Amino acid sequence: MCGIVGYIGHKKACPILIEGLKRLEYRGYDSAGIALLEHSRIEVTRAVGRISNLADKLPEKGSTANLGIAHTRWATHGTPCERNAHPHLDQAGRIALVHNGIIENYRTLKTFLERQGITFASDTDTEVLAQLVGHCYRGNLEQAVRDALHDVQGTYGIAVISADEPDRLVAARKGSPLIIGVGDGEYIVASDAAAIVEHTTQVVYLADGEMAVLTRDGLRTTTLDAVPVTKDVQAIEFSLEEIELGGHEHFMAKEIFEQPLSLANTLRGRLDVREGQIVLGGLAEHARTLARAKRIIFTAQGTAWHAGLVGEYLFEDVAKLPAETEYASEFRYRNPLIDDGTVIIAISQSGETADTLAAVREAKLKGALALGVVNVVGSTIARETDAGIYLHCGPEIGVASTKAFSSQVAVLAMMAIQLGRRRFLSQEAAERLIDALARIPDQVGEVLQQSDRIRSVVETLVERENWLFLGRGYNYPIAMEGALKLKEISYIHAEGMPAAEMKHGPIALINQGMPVVFIAPRGQQYDKVLGNIEEVRSRGGRVIAVATRGDNEITHLAEHVFHIPDVPEPLQPLLTVIPLQLMAYHAAVLRNCNVDKPRNLAKSVTVE
Ligand code: GLU
Repeated sequence: MCGIVGYIGHKKACPILIEGLKRLEYRGYDSAGIALLEHSRIEVTRAVGRISNLADKLPEKGSTANLGIAHTRWATHGTPCERNAHPHLDQAGRIALVHNGIIENYRTLKTFLERQGITFASDTDTEVLAQLVGHCYRGNLEQAVRDALHDVQGTYGIAVISADEPDRLVAARKGSPLIIGVGDGEYIVASDAAAIVEHTTQVVYLADGEMAVLTRDGLRTTTLDAVPVTKDVQAIEFSLEEIELGGHEHFMAKEIFEQPLSLANTLRGRLDVREGQIVLGGLAEHARTLARAKRIIFTAQGTAWHAGLVGEYLFEDVAKLPAETEYASEFRYRNPLIDDGTVIIAISQSGETADTLAAVREAKLKGALALGVVNVVGSTIARETDAGIYLHCGPEIGVASTKAFSSQVAVLAMMAIQLGRRRFLSQEAAERLIDALARIPDQVGEVLQQSDRIRSVVETLVERENWLFLGRGYNYPIAMEGALKLKEISYIHAEGMPAAEMKHGPIALINQGMPVVFIAPRGQQYDKVLGNIEEVRSRGGRVIAVATRGDNEITHLAEHVFHIPDVPEPLQPLLTVIPLQLMAYHAAVLRNCNVDKPRNLAKSVTVE
């Protein structure tokens, strides 16, 4: 998920690697490290925090090594600390490896390696791969990497060096990007062109399932199965800034469009489609307590609170467990009644949200089991909760949360299914949901294709200062989230609420041309929503609907319709939120707002 840089050539590797890491800083990371190969030895330096911390730890005169690899880490397995930072070494300290991604079957591989007498120095999934390469090594690094990858499930971009082969660097990828910069007798391998463009604009893009062996004399590419592949050297045509944003104008857009991938990462290794099971390692110890709980309280703030609301529907509907969602700021001060049948689930992207953390402490004080649904590994909430599940959706930089929200909902859906199986959910019903969940990342991709059309619709509405978002059931929280997104970044006043609530007051606001967004996919309450649409139309409101693909009925009622594929109701929020994120984004751009840094807002709210 984070950054890789590797160098082989005739220049000093160290400054090139450190400079490369600095170029990757914008992606967000928690620690960094470097391995340099000199005099047949590998020297590793690691540090937590900024790249300058790492640079400060390197010897002043600098190493003269001209082969090395470096990494910025966004922890997924094991807290961010020096011990867990990459590069990781094999047992003999002769092989060093950096990795982006997740090794899904690291537990099995670790057990196997431990039985061979290998001891581990870190808690990461990555070290397992480094040790496995070491275990497979018989004097040929390329072959050892190939053999090790053969046994690995998951995603990776890797760069590997061996003290016994000071003339080569081996790289491979599956699911994480790798680019090779081609210089004169030198190569730079990186996860992101930003680390390369300073040195060369000539690059080779490694494709998924390919490996490269770089020596000072040349570059050889093969598939993971050793079939030679001929690659073209291409010229990078982007500026540094464009590269950082992956071709998007803002981080928020990048993160919205990244959701097929970030959701796939959240689900990775956790869906057992064949067995109809959900595997959530983080909860294993508490699964029984959770299944016997009398009441679940989701606690969060902002967008995460909306994810909690979806969780409430999921837990009651799928897991048949009473659930409620509370603003952490209210929960913590109202002396909540908590008995030992209560389980608290705290949701926070950063894991540092002050109110949510205080709510966790209050709940623990009163004896409740506290679980966390958090993105940042090793964050305070992650540490203080009894157990939890990480989102694994990668760093979120845009202040308005998008990909973290969809991953939060995906995690809550997995928890509900897993819990449901321990309670009343049949194997068959679970299988159906798991199967549908596995298809969600691709379906999000389909919904995203409507972005241009959404923009042109928003263009006609963007002058209006008051909007309403309405939905029922699972889509009521999505109505609230749609309104919040619009407020946050475009400064348009918007309200989201259950569609039926409109009649109890807000309907008075509806005047000629007021945009009213209905989240109305097919489902139990569909007919009721159509009734609400009629009520808005007859008062002159302009209706925009998010509906199920193939629904022709709604096209007669709504002025504009955006579609989602047909999915089981509990999973609809994962798709219906996408058009709303895009509406908010386009509205903000059209109104010339600072999309990634909206006024008065901060990414992580660490004050009450
Ligand atoms: N899964 C690895 C770890 O937690 C790599 C994370 C990354 O991509 O930065 O160390």
